[in-house]
Formats: sequence, C-alpha cells, structure tokens
Amino acid sequence: MERRTQMSWEQLQAILKENKTTRAIEERDPPVACPFDGAILDIHPRGRRNCPMGNYTWTGGSKA
Ligand SMILES: [Zn+2]
Repeated sequence: MERRTQMSWEQLQAILKENKTTRAIEERDPPVACPFDGAILDIHPRGRRNCPMGNYTWTGGSKA
C-alpha cells in the first residue's frame, strides 16, 4: 500500500512537470532578442521586456 501511494505521488509530480512544460512552450511566443540588433532582452518581473540598447520594448502578454 505504501509503495502504491508513493507511485501516485510521483505521477502527480510528473503531471505538474508536464503542465509547466506546456506553459513554457506557450511563453516561447514572446521575443527573446531585439528584432533590431539581436541583443538579448532584459525580462522584467511583470513580463515586460526591454532591449539593453534602449531601442525596443515589448509589453505584450497583458491578457491576464
Ligand atoms: Zn535593440
């Protein structure tokens, strides 16, 4: 019985991990690099992304 409980807990962890992966794929849509100079964007906690060169700002993802 104990083993069985442990197995289902592991399955739960696997499901949570899968959800995270799906979310990560959805979040791949926002730009990672500046479309003008290719610099890696600074990602702010609110989801805003700024080019370190100061010529590009991405403020998408404000659905929620
Ligand atoms: Zn830039």
